[in-house]
This record gives sequence, structure tokens and C-alpha cells, in this order.
Amino acid sequence: MPLDPHADFGRRAWLPCPGCQDHLDCDDCLGGRNCGEHWRYLIGNTGSLLHLQCPACTHLWNHETGFGSGGRTTPG
Ligand SMILES: [Zn+2]
Ligand SMILES: [Zn+2]
Repeated sequence: MPLDPHADFGRRAWLPCPGCQDHLDCDDCLGGRNCGEHWRYLIGNTGSLLHLQCPACTHLWNHETGFGSGGRTTPG
């Protein structure tokens, strides 16, 4: 799969890739730091849902942050 045309080096996110799980061998990633190697393209978002693509394996997925506009925070 090619990289999404909206993939932008200037818009990155540091989230584990469900495709290649390449963060599991990395001290920076596991330590919660912004790793210089294992970042993902932030393609865009819909509300609190982020659209991501991994530059290593080109896996595309969505990540629900649980935050964002329009969401209600009513407990229960
Ligand atoms: Zn990946
Ligand atoms: Zn890393």
C-alpha cells in the first residue's frame, strides 16, 4: 500500500502501530518519549478519531483518543 497523499512529515503522532508493533523493541517508545524512528503520519482526524499511517509498514488505522469536540463527558 502506498503512503497516503495526505501523509505529511510535519504532522506526526507517536502511537504504537498495530501492524508492525515496532515500538516493542525500543526504549524510547516504551519510555513514552517521542522516538526519532517510530512515529506515524497523522493523516487527519474526525472529531476525536485520528487517522494514522505507519511509514514503516504503511498500515492504515484509526485511533480513538476519547477526547475532542462534540463529545460528552457524562460519567456512566
Ligand atoms: Zn507499522
Ligand atoms: Zn522507537
